[in-house]
Amino acid sequence: MEPGAGVARVQLEGAAALELDYAVPEKWAGRVSVGTRVTVPLQNQRVPAVVIELLESSPHRHRLKEIAGIVGSRPMFTPGLLRLADWVAEYYLVPVHRVLRAMLPQAVRDRPETFLKDSHLKLVREPAPEVLDKMTTRAPLQARLLEELRRRGGEATLSDLRRDLPSATTVIKSLLKNGWITRAEIRVTRDPFQTEEFLPSQPLTLTEEQQAAYDAVIEAVRKPADAKPLLLHGVTGSGKTEVYLQAITDVLKAGKTALVLVPEISLTPQTIERFKARFSERKDSIAVLHSHLSDGERHDEWFKVQEGRADIVIGARSAIFAPLERLGLIIVDEEHEPSYKQEDAPRYHARDLAVVRGRLEGCAVLLGSATPSLESFQNALTGKYELLRMTRRTDGKSMPLIRIIDMRLQRRKGTGTSIGNAMILSERLRTAVTARLERREQTILFLNRRGFHTTLDCTACGEVVQCQDCAVPMTLHKADNRLVCHICGARRVPPTKCPSCKEPGLKYGGFGTERVEAAVREVFPQARIARVDTDTMQRKNQLRDTLKDFRAQKLDILIGTQMIAKGLDFPNVTLVGVLNADTALNLPDFRAAERTLQLLIQVAGRAGRGELKGEVFVQTYAPHSPAIQFARHNNFEGFAEQELEHRQAFKYPPYGHMVLISSRGKHQTQAEFTLQTLHKRLEQGLPEGAVMGEPSPSSLAKAHGQYRFQLLLRTERIRPLARHLGKVMASITLPPEILVTWDVDPVSLG
Ligand SMILES: [Zn+2]
Ligand SMILES: [Zn+2]
Repeated sequence: MEPGAGVARVQLEGAAALELDYAVPEKWAGRVSVGTRVTVPLQNQRVPAVVIELLESSPHRHRLKEIAGIVGSRPMFTPGLLRLADWVAEYYLVPVHRVLRAMLPQAVRDRPETFLKDSHLKLVREPAPEVLDKMTTRAPLQARLLEELRRRGGEATLSDLRRDLPSATTVIKSLLKNGWITRAEIRVTRDPFQTEEFLPSQPLTLTEEQQAAYDAVIEAVRKPADAKPLLLHGVTGSGKTEVYLQAITDVLKAGKTALVLVPEISLTPQTIERFKARFSERKDSIAVLHSHLSDGERHDEWFKVQEGRADIVIGARSAIFAPLERLGLIIVDEEHEPSYKQEDAPRYHARDLAVVRGRLEGCAVLLGSATPSLESFQNALTGKYELLRMTRRTDGKSMPLIRIIDMRLQRRKGTGTSIGNAMILSERLRTAVTARLERREQTILFLNRRGFHTTLDCTACGEVVQCQDCAVPMTLHKADNRLVCHICGARRVPPTKCPSCKEPGLKYGGFGTERVEAAVREVFPQARIARVDTDTMQRKNQLRDTLKDFRAQKLDILIGTQMIAKGLDFPNVTLVGVLNADTALNLPDFRAAERTLQLLIQVAGRAGRGELKGEVFVQTYAPHSPAIQFARHNNFEGFAEQELEHRQAFKYPPYGHMVLISSRGKHQTQAEFTLQTLHKRLEQGLPEGAVMGEPSPSSLAKAHGQYRFQLLLRTERIRPLARHLGKVMASITLPPEILVTWDVDPVSLG
């Protein structure tokens, strides 16, 4: 037995993935637990670490050094999260210390427990009127402060008083000394929603389909050990959120907590409001975690969870690591969303982690979508997940009518609105918009591409003006007359002569939202129009204000990118136009068809949400592609059946896993050679059943000045392959100027 209070085995947070033993000093007995962040001495330095195990004694013989400090007053990691970290490290092949780092928001890691402070002042006794009179002449400021305190019911915070009495800070000293008031230090939470009013909402009566889904969720919450993960396939408007809300109510009643993941882009004030309104009597116990919070807000929201003051967490991808205890239910809304995948190491998929965390912590997991990912759907078909269906909208209305417009025909007829040879609005869509304007109904026009022109070509030599650092054409942004690279953000003045052959015949082509806006303003000069994309929505709250105006019908037409594709609910919108359905279809990715179907169904779901019937126009040059045809009939399952057959034939996910290895570097040959070397090494001892492709240029062959190559591996069993890859990576020395990364279960093959 070591002297002191036992031994802590720690994982260093720094570069080395090391587990070491330290003695817990007597003075900290009982304050160090599994999950506590500490600092420990290492080679004459103090470094941060996490306690992963407590031991009676250490198997190491030498005298142990003592832990140097404790960070925070409570453990930063729950035992469940430490187990999840191990799982992530093994599955995604990342050192565990990197996973632990990713689990804490930076503001929490760097400045733990730095809260804003305030003073709470309380009146000890009411001053008699004559005393107050006397004081008014002798010490008028003191008298005023007492008066103000009385007016506020005898207590107030110092910062509150200071708004009316800037001198309050100096005055309270004498008041404290004379025993008029007491002061207590309090902590102020930087709550992003503090000033918002939420009208309480009542549970709605569930439809039969909702009730069945709800019953299944509750059953899983009650007996998580017997339950499979649930996949809720519910068409847009079928009332998934109401099922979530009522299930959470039950979870809370049982004394448990709930975690709700929402894609970042759907985490709108409207979404948060629905939760805060339903749980209005406990709205302070809802924590929101996403990237648009300030550091201070994120810090305080996180500690709200860690200190057990929150029992509902709503957040984007990384909220899967929220330190909730007593988890009863994890919900992943729009589970098909690619943004659940983290694109930097550790490259985890939050939806998959939800399922793992549910298993590790014995809690129910509910995945919801109108267009489930084929991975999840396949799991439901094979019985690994339980499938719940909601096929009808709660308002009893049919799904909006989807009309496919063959742009090849339109172009031949030449009657639509086009500039140059790019047709923006077909005649049919233009007529439909006109009808909406006449009826005072609203229109959404969707195009997932920013900018004015998307290409600039030389008519003499055919050269496309590309970013010098990235192998992509530059987009003209007319508002500031610059060519912009959408990969690295490089900007340049548009050339007047071809950079290659010096001929003057440069020609713009393609269109983005900026050009659509210009064209639509020209065609409908009387309409009130707003554009929503990352160019126009720079100012804080601008998106929120624009959407508010649109809801209040101060706007007729909203033009936008994917920022407006999801979750928004505008009752007066009866027309949605998808200007180019082919942008997603043409991606060099085996998931292109799946993405197109998802996008079309999501966008179409924005039409006809209220009393009025909705109509959707989809402009495409590939009208017969399965994704577009199945979307037209809102037939997800038909699509899934056909697409799964195709995936199986080629052993694509969900029939097997992929590992994408990439190399990047300033020198093309070196980047390629590095992958070839790796390829050779991986070939030896490649696990049975694993298939490796050849190194090839990535579809984005150059970005940020670096050449990119990739190597794709496929296997049915990921762990043997991950172990093999880990062994090879540990034994090989790669040139330091080449960055090699690997991605298990990649969602994009760029
Ligand atoms: Zn040229
Ligand atoms: Zn670039």
